[in-house]
This record gives sequence, C-alpha cells and structure tokens, in this order.
Amino acid sequence: MSKERVITQAPIQTRSDTVHKHERMFPLLVSESLNSLKEYETGVQRARVDVWNTVGRKIDLSYESSSLELTRREFVSELIDARYQIISSIYGINPGERVVIRDDDNEVVNIAKQHVGRLIDRGVFQQFTERFSSCPQCDRVIAPTAAGLCSCPDCSNGLVTVERSGLFMTMSPETKAWILSETNLNNPKARQVLSSALHNMPLIIQVSKQRAYGITLEEFGVDPRFVLDPKITLAFLPSILREMGQGELDTVILGTDSVPNFVPYAAYFDQNTQIKYISIGLIPPYSDTEIAKYEAGFYYPFLALVMTSTNGNLAAEQYNALFREYTRTIRKFDSCLTAFSIIEPQGEVVTSNQLRASLSGIIQLFSQYKTRDGVLALREFVYENLSKQYVEQCKLYNQQPEPVLLEQLNKLFNLVYGFDRTT
Ligand SMILES: [Zn+2]
Repeated sequence: MSKERVITQAPIQTRSDTVHKHERMFPLLVSESLNSLKEYETGVQRARVDVWNTVGRKIDLSYESSSLELTRREFVSELIDARYQIISSIYGINPGERVVIRDDDNEVVNIAKQHVGRLIDRGVFQQFTERFSSCPQCDRVIAPTAAGLCSCPDCSNGLVTVERSGLFMTMSPETKAWILSETNLNNPKARQVLSSALHNMPLIIQVSKQRAYGITLEEFGVDPRFVLDPKITLAFLPSILREMGQGELDTVILGTDSVPNFVPYAAYFDQNTQIKYISIGLIPPYSDTEIAKYEAGFYYPFLALVMTSTNGNLAAEQYNALFREYTRTIRKFDSCLTAFSIIEPQGEVVTSNQLRASLSGIIQLFSQYKTRDGVLALREFVYENLSKQYVEQCKLYNQQPEPVLLEQLNKLFNLVYGFDRTT
C-alpha cells in the first residue's frame, strides 16, 4: 500500500443531521473517486485517510440535548459510524479499509500541543489577557470586546465584559500576500474566496475558544475554560499525517465554504508542504429519496468527479443536464458492449494501439485532475471510436476484439460512471 502521497478531504465535521444531508459527504466521495483512478493508473494501492473534527459549538449543543447515556467520545463515534454506514450501503465504499483519525485522539492532541508550543516560541502565537464579551445567561465567553457584539447569538441576552487569558495569533500583510500567491487552488471562485477571507481577517485572531470539549491550553497559561480552536488543530493536518506515519499530504478536497477556515492556517503553519487544493461548490441538497430516484452512480463517482472542475455552485438546471448526459452515455456504453458481444469469438484477435493510447490518455487526464476533460474524452470514446470504427472493422473482417481493451474500457467506465457491465 502506498503511503507516500495522500489525497484526502479537509477534516469532516461531525454533525447529527447527516442522514438527510448527503451533499455534506461530497468531499469524501471526491477523494475516493480520485484515489481509485490514481490506483488504476499506477497499479499501486493507496491508503484512504479520513480526519474528523469532533470539537465545536454545534456538537456541544447536540450532545447536551441528546438523551443517550453516552460519553462525549462515544456520542461522536456514533455520528461517525452513521456516515460510514451511508457511504457503505449507498455508494459501496468499504469503511473497514479506511484510516480514521479524530482530533480528540491522544496522538493528535499531543501533536497539536507540540505545535502550539513551537508557534509560541516562534512568536506566531501569543498568550495574553484580553477583554471579552460574555453571556451571563449561557455562562459563555463569545468574542473579544473589539468584535463589537451587543447580544448573545444563542439566547439574545445582553453581554458583560470579562477578562480572560487567551491565545492569539497575528498574520502580517506580507504573509497573507505570500499565502495567496503560493496556494495551489483549482478554480478562480475559490481563489476569490481565499483572497477576501485573508483581506477580512482581523489583525489579532483568537485561537482559543470557550467550548465544552477540546484541547485545553492551561500549560500555556490560557484560561482553563478555553480550548484550542478546532480549525487550528486541523490546520496541522500535514504534520498529523506525517507524524502518525500516514504519509505526505498531497491533495486536499474541500467545499469552497471551508477554504477560509482551512487554507490560510494550514499554509501559514507549514510553509514547506506544497498542497494541491481542490475546492468544490455546493450541489443542490439531496437525501435518500433523490438517490433512489436517480442512481447512486450519478452522485458517486460521476458528479463527484465533474464537480472538481466546476467553478462555483451547481445550479438545478446544470444538475439536470448532467443527469441527462450521464444516462445517455451509459445507454450508449451499454449498446457499445452489446455490439461487441454479438461478434463471434472465432476470428483472429485484433489489437489496436490507437485505442490503448486513447484509454491511457483518458486516465492521464483524470490523474492530472482535468476531470471534466476526462469525462468528455471518455464519452467521445464511447460515442465515436470504439462503437463505430473498431466494431465495424471486426465485423467486416470476421475478427474478434482484444479482451484486454474491453476490460480496460469497462474498468474505466466503472471508475467514472459507477457502471459495471460485467456484474
Ligand atoms: Zn446567551
């Protein structure tokens, strides 16, 4: 198994409403599709690594309102299991073969704390006492008073000012400009989102937050009610993977909305790792009903791959047009294979270097993340070359097509359209 270069999605938030919001799993489906295509291209198995974000206000609230008699860790385990059950039952992705890393694992906590210590030594992080707006009703510190909040976002009550020792960071304009110029992002929309996020960042960024659960920072002189902001922990992803022996981070798939929460910090903390970011826009929300109406193969791998070369969100009409394209191409592929199967396997086997080169060219496109070009080339292959010329030639001279070509085509079609004629 290759553990050298890792394609993964940005850390996934654990939420309770997953079952009805399948689109939230899209980055995982994208990385799965790209890993499978890379595996096919190289013939080397690749590790599937998932990193889960277990710390956050939304999870605190769902845990508090749950009636289950579970520890916080067990509660999150159930949320993670629910997602893996979905990807297994609907998309046929085996959860047992995946490496599961959580930001509340002891090893991750230790790595994060070591990084915090180093960043304090480098002067990137500073610990000091600051004035915060706090809600007496919720007993919670919300934000530094400089943010100018007037009421509690949860209960709308008035706020009071308290003093707390927190952890903070600053990012100079030069660093922001460097991050923007060095970041390898796949589309202009994501670049625009990154640029405005960097521009709007406050001068002093709070990296400790009051949460019910998370990595405490008392050893660095921080108030014990604060924990490390989970986006900071998760931005240590390249080191987490490296230090846990999972390989070098190569490519991160993330929703465009997550770009501001991940890219600036990951780039700032680890300036030596060159990461490719594939940002994907939103697709219309879908639940189990839509999956039954369409086909699981449309969402994964087809739409997952198409979204990696789409700039911005997918409108409903584009979505419907892609579904029509998907079903037509599958029908064409099916009739193309039927044409093959009626040829009597008696004549001489005809090899075609041209067709072989064409198929490997298509795999190359996917491997360079030119996924839309790859989908179009595969469609053209099914519509033109194979069905017309090769089959006609075989029939004309009473020859039979090369089995390996058929195997390759079938495999590639399965990796892109989730459609396997052999089963
Ligand atoms: Zn409140």
